[in-house]
Amino acid sequence: MIQINNVSKWYGEFQVLTDCTTEVKKGEVVVVCGPSGSGKSTLIKTVNALEPFQKGEILVEGVSVGDPKTNLPKLRSRVGMVFQHFELFPHLSITDNLIIAQMKVLGRGRDEAMDKGLKLLDRVGLKAHAHKFPGQLSGGQQQRVAIARALAMDPIVMLFDEPTSALDPEMVNEVLDVMVELAQEGMTMMCVTHEMGFARKVASRVIFMDRGQIVEDCSKDDFFGHLDARSERARQFLSKIL
Ligand code: ATP
Ligand code: MG
Repeated sequence: MIQINNVSKWYGEFQVLTDCTTEVKKGEVVVVCGPSGSGKSTLIKTVNALEPFQKGEILVEGVSVGDPKTNLPKLRSRVGMVFQHFELFPHLSITDNLIIAQMKVLGRGRDEAMDKGLKLLDRVGLKAHAHKFPGQLSGGQQQRVAIARALAMDPIVMLFDEPTSALDPEMVNEVLDVMVELAQEGMTMMCVTHEMGFARKVASRVIFMDRGQIVEDCSKDDFFGHLDARSERARQFLSKIL
């Protein structure tokens, strides 16, 4: 589904990604963790071309992300992305947030988009809030709307960049529950998160990054179960967050 082959990226002189290679297969949930500044957000953003890279190749269902001939709006419409700060349009109601890209990017009619949007809103438990504006919802509720909005585009894969790290602790689980459900339904997911409970529950693989490199890329059981086989950096990291 996603192939990342020998990707390197620089900001000027500073190398932010060094020779990153991994893949996310259909139906897999890959959790990406690592210290602050290690390049997790940068890596995940290269997948839907929010960040360019200078070396290597990324393929999403065989389509090369870095190829200037690739239709990026079309590619992005298939790759759902949820960020740390729920980037809903503040001036639009929840329903309008849910339907606008469906209409503008996918060319769906208002009724079809609305139908889809409301079904997904119901699914994340927020149907009663359809008429509200983002500012009237809690952070956890806004993040669930952001997930529903991404799902409305029928993505083939969902990317998450620390979707719960800006939330008050009591709201973290309501968002993680939605993500766990998605994972259990077979959605292909790449998630930057430090929620190791989530990783233990649904991850197929765990990637650990440090200083722009993928230091560990292994099954969940190896990652959590065989600490002795992990790198020193990964062990240090885990000892801080577990
Ligand atoms: P965090 O856990 O804090 O979110 P991260 O692993 O997501 O960290 P990135 O945001 O990918 O890390 O950043 C990786 C490195 O690239 C950091 O050292 C950061 O300072 C640097 N960086 C990020 N964006 C830019 C930019 N636009 N220009 C220059 N350097 C940048
Ligand atoms: Mg980040």
